Amino acid sequence: MAQASFNHKAVNLWTSRIIPLILMGIVGYVTYVVIVLICVDYLLKPPTSLQAPRHGAAAAILVLYSILLLLIALTYFRLLYTVTYNPGYVPRGPQWHAQRERKTREKRQNGRDYRKAQSPVSSEGIEGDAITSSGDAFAPTTTEPAPGLRDFYSKDAFVCQGDGRPIWCSTCLNWKPDRTHHCREIERCVRKMDHFCPWVGGVVSETSFKFFTQFVAWTAIYCIFNLIVAAYFLAEYRRKTHTLNVQWLVVLCLGALFGLFTAGMTGSSLQFAIVNTTTIENLSRKTIVWTLALYMPKLPEATPGFRTISYSAGTTSEGSNTHTDHPSRGVRTFAILYTKPGENPFDLGPYKNFKSVFGDHWYDWLLPIRYSPCCNHDRQEGEFAMGPVVQRMRREAGIEFPAEVDEKSHRRRRHRRRRRRRRSSHSTGVKGIRTNQGEDMREKDASGIGNDRDEVELEEGLRRTNGTAYHS
Ligand SMILES: [Zn+2]
Repeated sequence: MAQASFNHKAVNLWTSRIIPLILMGIVGYVTYVVIVLICVDYLLKPPTSLQAPRHGAAAAILVLYSILLLLIALTYFRLLYTVTYNPGYVPRGPQWHAQRERKTREKRQNGRDYRKAQSPVSSEGIEGDAITSSGDAFAPTTTEPAPGLRDFYSKDAFVCQGDGRPIWCSTCLNWKPDRTHHCREIERCVRKMDHFCPWVGGVVSETSFKFFTQFVAWTAIYCIFNLIVAAYFLAEYRRKTHTLNVQWLVVLCLGALFGLFTAGMTGSSLQFAIVNTTTIENLSRKTIVWTLALYMPKLPEATPGFRTISYSAGTTSEGSNTHTDHPSRGVRTFAILYTKPGENPFDLGPYKNFKSVFGDHWYDWLLPIRYSPCCNHDRQEGEFAMGPVVQRMRREAGIEFPAEVDEKSHRRRRHRRRRRRRRSSHSTGVKGIRTNQGEDMREKDASGIGNDRDEVELEEGLRRTNGTAYHS
């Protein structure tokens, strides 16, 4: 691999220590210029020949500057804390730990001889590389017990390979949950990884993407604020003294440079949140074909036009579509289906996508308090909420959930009933008002047409099903 000589440790030191220090230095300098030089020296204590003190303007700048700086500090430290202590890593597999233990034992036993024997492969690399090159990095076969698979097949949908098993990471030696990406910089699998962020020296993932976006957004506003303040007083000072204040000019340039950069990042991050994608997924957004294993609540009578995979405790069997596999016996059968190129199965619609990252309330959108709702993987439908694309795939394959079918027929019946009611109200001259005389009406209407009780029970049933199936 061309990247084999890539020095991750040096990059990590540079990104995690030096860049934040430089950024803090810049913020310190801007604070000095805006607060001390502009607010205090120019607005509050100006040379008497130039102008009278302007307390109002100085106070307004001071307050706004402090609020923005506080918001940046809050979002930055929340981001830093999350990237450090809750980065969204997927645990490494049992095989990885076993191999590591074996290596350590061998190393201890063989001492120097071991190191000599290994030297052509280079022992200074990262542990994961050594394990990858050992040749054992294969996913468990379909017949041997595969730990960790239960987390996948207990859900109703998951991203899989062509054979119906989840995607395997050959470095972490574990299954990859939906939307997980293996990050080379840190040699770990990261859930819904967005990118490696040099600003904080870590990976922006599902846990930190919201805080990252808030941080770049507040930084963009802060930069634009400084740009406006510096530009306004620079022009004024020049008009009055016919000289240029270099320090204010530096702040103006820094504001323009970082403002443009962070505003661009804010724009792209918001766009990714709204279409429910990540920087990495976005690279292949227009061409990607997702392979999904979708749980079949009922086995088809005839041979389906797609591959299936059945999971039971410990083993999987591909393509077995025997009718002895029944959900009640602990066997869960999944259809292996493909999206059309460029379709996003996780796209829930712009507003729901946005809320799945930023939360339900306006204060969640602005302040770095709670994690994104999409970090909660308790839902039954999959690691992440599935959108209309998956519903369509289920419908086309004929593997809809009974609740969905019920809901559709229920909607159709309600529509028919409404039409009938409208027609009858036209003929009798009574407007279509729903009354509380349901009991009497139902007894009269023994044929079941317009049966209100039926509707209520069905609705309750639906709610109950949704309550257990899609608890969030
Ligand atoms: Zn990995």
